Amino acid sequence: MDTNQELISTVVKKVLAEMMEYKSFRTEGPTGIYETVDQAVENAVVAQKRLLEMPLSHRDKIIAAIRQAALDHNETISAMAVQESGLGRYEDKIRENILCATKTPGTEDIVPHAFSGDDGLTLVEYAPRGVIGALTPITNPTGTVINNAISMVAAGNAVVFNPHPTAKETSIHTIRILHEAIVRAGGPPGLIASVAKPDLTTAGQIIEHPKINMLVATGGRPVVNVVLRSGKKAIGAGAGNPPALVDDTANIRRAATSIVNGASINNNIFCTSEKEVIVVNAVADALISFMLETGKAFLLTPEQAEQITKLVVTPERKINGAFIGKDVQIILKEIGITVGEECRLAIFEAHRDHPLVWLEQMMPVMPIVRVRDVKEGIEFGVQVEQGNRHTAIMHSNHVEYMTAFARAVQTTIFVKNGPSYAGIGLGGEGHTSFTIAGPTGEGLTSARTFTRIRRCTLVDAFRII
Ligand code: NAD
Repeated sequence: MDTNQELISTVVKKVLAEMMEYKSFRTEGPTGIYETVDQAVENAVVAQKRLLEMPLSHRDKIIAAIRQAALDHNETISAMAVQESGLGRYEDKIRENILCATKTPGTEDIVPHAFSGDDGLTLVEYAPRGVIGALTPITNPTGTVINNAISMVAAGNAVVFNPHPTAKETSIHTIRILHEAIVRAGGPPGLIASVAKPDLTTAGQIIEHPKINMLVATGGRPVVNVVLRSGKKAIGAGAGNPPALVDDTANIRRAATSIVNGASINNNIFCTSEKEVIVVNAVADALISFMLETGKAFLLTPEQAEQITKLVVTPERKINGAFIGKDVQIILKEIGITVGEECRLAIFEAHRDHPLVWLEQMMPVMPIVRVRDVKEGIEFGVQVEQGNRHTAIMHSNHVEYMTAFARAVQTTIFVKNGPSYAGIGLGGEGHTSFTIAGPTGEGLTSARTFTRIRRCTLVDAFRII
């Protein structure tokens, strides 16, 4: 049994005990989990009105309680996420939840502003939308819930989640924990909610529900399209295929470490993680040897790379879901390779039209493509990003090259000289979000994203200078 599995097993006992505790809690009072969408929405409507009657300082207390509950139960929900979904790594889920609990902005994100001049004063405030319907992905069943709950409640909304059915126990347990914290902090029951059995039918009911004022879809392109067609205000956070471009001016050792870390966090299931490396030929050998030097990467021979490709890509050129988010040990074992526990990523040299260069693999198997020069690398990077406008990474010490790639690729997140996750605030400046709205353009969502902007004008008064 590897360390990842051992860690999970240790926590499983705690999970079971906690589940029992919550089952009994469920019979004693509201849990935020409802049998039907109607019940969840009706309770959310009432809860949202009650939230608005409370002072902002009370909302801050509620947000603080959500953060603390997420941290207190982090081990449990992280282990559950890996166990139920079969994706990712326990220690990385822990990091993800800490990040969401501590770096998702609260009410400070909706501070009003004002215009003052000869004609008086105009106040601009960020008002809530009401009740938000949030569809969450299998890849981040805890992080997205924590992040969305903080952002949406901080903005004065209630939220009805429809978690991914394959991670529903984890997401619902997380919602229950956060809900309990809200109620204990004096917040209204039902402020964050879910149906007990989320599926595509309940997702449809949430999308259609007349009392849901806004929709937020975090997932693949199809679900983003569904909410965009709803006729409601919708935020779409879709798929990416982030290229990591390395040019011949880069600090190659630093680039290698960053790429290995960024691509292997949570076994590559983050939408922001490096999905293919594009490297200028002159430094390609050095990059590969520095990647191996980290002790976390394993270089596949061309024959092994072909075997792995046949395993993880279907004849229809689709990703084989059985290997998404799996540890590299499990994937390599399928072709008879055993690597140590410290290994995190399989790497191989690939030709340009290799399927793993173009598909969002979400597993720790990384193609590396050589290009002649940085110009060719930029052109190819733009092509493989495929207009997702999601994330791109560049390793370079040439400001003009970095500027050229950033301008050409037009992604929501552009990380320079670091691992991709620096772009979501993990070891990088700025707030975090696990709903990165590329398709609809809001970027890394925060409380302000879930508001509507209102203006109040007082004529000829209140200018004090
Ligand atoms: P998914 O699109 O399969 O599911 C996401 C959510 O949408 C789930 O709750 C699912 O039940 C629901 N859903 C899916 N199809 C639906 C439909 N037709 N009608 C109504 N609801 C529907 O995505 P996933 O496999 O859970 O997550 C992985 C994908 O999400 C990857 O492509 C990844 O890049 C993307 N992702 C993006 C972000 C971001 O912030 N941009 C964050 C995390 C994941």
